[in-house]
Amino acid sequence: MRKKLIAGNWKMHLVPVEARALVEGIRHEIDRDAATLAKDRDVLVAPPGILIPAVAQALAGSSILLGAQNMHYEDKGAFTGELSAPMLQAYGVTHVIVGHSERRHIFHETDELINRKVLAALHHRMTPILCVGETQDEHDGGRALDIVLGQLQRGLKGVGDDHVTTVAIAYEPVWAIGTGRTATPEQAEVIHGAIRGAILERCGRERADAVRIIYGGSVNDESVDSLVSRPDIDGALVGGASLKADSFARIVRARTR
Ligand code: PEP
Repeated sequence: MRKKLIAGNWKMHLVPVEARALVEGIRHEIDRDAATLAKDRDVLVAPPGILIPAVAQALAGSSILLGAQNMHYEDKGAFTGELSAPMLQAYGVTHVIVGHSERRHIFHETDELINRKVLAALHHRMTPILCVGETQDEHDGGRALDIVLGQLQRGLKGVGDDHVTTVAIAYEPVWAIGTGRTATPEQAEVIHGAIRGAILERCGRERADAVRIIYGGSVNDESVDSLVSRPDIDGALVGGASLKADSFARIVRARTR
């Protein structure tokens, strides 16, 4: 059975005092059920890089995992403003979001760059959460599958079969991110099924069955159950709704079947 992954992407929000309060709020809501929840789901928060030390401290003793929103593919060097895998790992970061649509579209990250980050994360035994998704125009033009499967193939270039299942894939239709327009569970299932099909073709049934494919795009405490109870939707990447302890806790408690 694949464990679900419920991940909060805080984007560029919060200062340390707010971040600590949010973690405390989430823990207050879910710590007492942590053992039960942990049986079938992982919970993760991905704060802005500068908040990682404060959040790591606030998470001490909790089963909530710590993620980063981005990282550089080199370990060190003249890369002003960047953070590397060893720096993140020093604070207990285990997961890194790679290729988020905001990184692709605002910061012009290419599939090639994203692929380097995926490979670097795997090299450091971190879990890359590789985001793929089509824009509104691509969606309207019936090109969603082509776009998503192309990003997937290029994002996973050079990833050995044994490592494919370490990667979590996040299907995030760009038209659904931050817009309040969630893909329907049926729409998402079609794409998730196709992603799993591509993994199957690439490295066989066992690995295709093991890889986690999560959905992101305006997930909230009302839409989450119908999405993550679908067989091919292995969790959620949550932006806006992860910034409030009660709504994120409700999402964490989603009905998963
Ligand atoms: C995201 O940032 O990955 C995301 C899905 O944002 P939102 O939930 O706000 O649409």
